[in-house]
Amino acid sequence: MSTTMNVSLVSNSKALLGEGPVWNTTTGQLYWLDILEHNLHIHNPGHPQNDDIITIPPYISSVITRQSGGIVLTLQDGFYSYDLSTRELTLLAEVESSLTDNRFNDGKCDPRGRYLAGTMSLSNQLSKGSLYSMDREYKVTTLLTEVSISNGLAWSAEGNTLYFIDTPTRNVVAFDYELETGHISNRRVVVQIPDHLGFPDGMTIDAEGMLWVAHWGGWCVTRWNPLNGQLLQTVPVPASQVTSCTFGGTDLDTLYITTARVGLSEEELSKQPDAGGLFIIKLGITGTSSTAFAG
Ligand code: ZN
Repeated sequence: MSTTMNVSLVSNSKALLGEGPVWNTTTGQLYWLDILEHNLHIHNPGHPQNDDIITIPPYISSVITRQSGGIVLTLQDGFYSYDLSTRELTLLAEVESSLTDNRFNDGKCDPRGRYLAGTMSLSNQLSKGSLYSMDREYKVTTLLTEVSISNGLAWSAEGNTLYFIDTPTRNVVAFDYELETGHISNRRVVVQIPDHLGFPDGMTIDAEGMLWVAHWGGWCVTRWNPLNGQLLQTVPVPASQVTSCTFGGTDLDTLYITTARVGLSEEELSKQPDAGGLFIIKLGITGTSSTAFAG
């Protein structure tokens, strides 16, 4: 199949920790982040000369469009709204602001526009993080505790299944997701990542309900069937630390892939000089559009 196709580098950003790609269907732009450089990257396909980098500290880790305009995002200590024209930042909900060794990580909106995002330790301690859900009134609910590195949120097309990754577990898990309340239940493992593929990081779901997983330490993104746990496709990436992926482009047929340079030695970087870049590939598969925050 398409396993021999090559990804292309579209932005040689040399990000320390590229993450959180999200397609803005309204503007036709790809937002992504460098969490450790505290940067929001705005990529304009076909017009890279218009690309922009906005520094929003501390530790911007996820970004989502907002139904009422502008964007919402997670910083180290909570959920914020951001006005891209005035560059005004407004706190919506403080979360874990007393836990200075924690920061937010990946975040996405559920099909009803609640903003789910989880946290992790900055000093690699296990089970210190949690998964939170913020509703349109900015009320925050804790969905999970004792999470190590919260990652990889995706919902089934019907919205009644949530897929989630706690990276060190090497598992993709599913929960029953109650759309009316945002409650989760019935946790089960749906995909087990073999050791040679590194650790599962970011994730997205395609129009056929199959999961695309980015592999930290695995040099690839992979496609899995969550109904039987089978590996369907492997797409090699010329960077070892592959962090996340999402579908974008006018027809949602372009897979955008983020990567990281952090922690790599000079010798390792000489073998993967494009690490930290933004990559794309077209595979004849379309994605699903991300939901905007309802608040
Ligand atoms: Zn991640």
